[in-house]
Amino acid sequence: MKHLAILGSTGSIGTSCLDVVRAHREHLTIEGLTAHRNWELLARQCDEFRPRQVALGDASLAEDCPRNRFPGVPLGFGQRGIEEIASSPHVDFVVSSIVGAAGLRGTWAAVECGKTIGLANKETLVVAGPLMTQRLRESGATLIPIDSEHNAVFQALQCGRREHVRRIILTASGGPFRGYARTQLERVTPESALTHPTWNMGRKITIDSATMMNKALEVIEARWLFDLDVDQIDVVIHPQSIVHSMVEFNDGSVIAQMSPPDMRLPIQYALTYPERAPGITPRLNFGEAQTLEFIPPDRELFPALDLGFEVARRGGTCGAVLNAANEIAVSRFLDGDLTFVDIPRVCRDVLDSHDFDPRPTLDELFRQDRWARQETLQWKP
Ligand code: NDP
Repeated sequence: MKHLAILGSTGSIGTSCLDVVRAHREHLTIEGLTAHRNWELLARQCDEFRPRQVALGDASLAEDCPRNRFPGVPLGFGQRGIEEIASSPHVDFVVSSIVGAAGLRGTWAAVECGKTIGLANKETLVVAGPLMTQRLRESGATLIPIDSEHNAVFQALQCGRREHVRRIILTASGGPFRGYARTQLERVTPESALTHPTWNMGRKITIDSATMMNKALEVIEARWLFDLDVDQIDVVIHPQSIVHSMVEFNDGSVIAQMSPPDMRLPIQYALTYPERAPGITPRLNFGEAQTLEFIPPDRELFPALDLGFEVARRGGTCGAVLNAANEIAVSRFLDGDLTFVDIPRVCRDVLDSHDFDPRPTLDELFRQDRWARQETLQWKP
């Protein structure tokens, strides 16, 4: 039996995670759940899964949230409430599925306690990759990737020895605007950017997919997660989202992980690893004709991708700054305050004007994160 805490249980990944738990109750039990403000859904999840404790990230709800909707379950608030759940002695597996840099502290708390962590929150490694991987080694904690591309690489890596890996190839759907002309991209609306062709996800990652910033963040995540040189990471557009990523070994063999696009599969793999439990997601049907395409990305039209490679190469404070700038740029775009093509522009400007530190502490990363948010808020096209 694995005893789980889900940080971000009310989100797209969190609710998919609970689907997996529902199907495998003989192996998985819920000890802790957290949300930010959505206490109504959190309360319904409590009724169904009976966790030992829950928390709301927004501490201002401590006054208004009706406690009688959580009968017999201690309700924590703010960052402290989330960290208490992540480090609870009753929890052995923490799912990190809060969106954005806000997920870092909870993940860090779980790492400090040597837990196994199912990592969906890619921003954790983007912001603090070197510090996080060092702390993982010291504490004995384990990260199992949930992000479908990294989960695919994790699976494919088991086909060969680490020293025989030549490179990994991350696949990208290309988002809704693949093949657009530059003039078309300039007119993209939030509504159209929120419509993803193959995946159903939270709002922020859906916009990140459309700009290809998501792939940029994944390049950085992969660099730290698998301890690769940046030159060992490639990106290819694969519009069908069936091949979730690949590993090429030194003899030329390329091992791919394939399945229909449904996050419940990588989540289940992470939760049940090293076992493989019966799947709950649709299966590939080779009785029907299938076409799989692989196309090089258009780096000029989607300059966010190059930012990812550059930041993965430079390290230091770059990840924290790029991530913070992107979070604010996405939110300004969704508010109609920036255009779609402004997102990579502001990220580039803020990254270039930051005070680079090659070996920052965690506090310095948080300071740079705050600075980058402020700069991006004030940025004018
Ligand atoms: P959602 O926006 O759907 O959910 C985010 C979750 O985090 C919610 O539970 C939300 O609570 C909580 N949350 C938001 N802000 C805060 C905060 N400041 N403090 C504490 N909790 C907070 O996001 P997704 O599920 O789409 O994504 C989660 C993470 O997983 C992201 O890092 C994303 O990049 C990654 N990921 C997502 C995939 C997907 O298919 N969705 C695929 C691969 C990776 P509330 O509901 O109360 O707002």
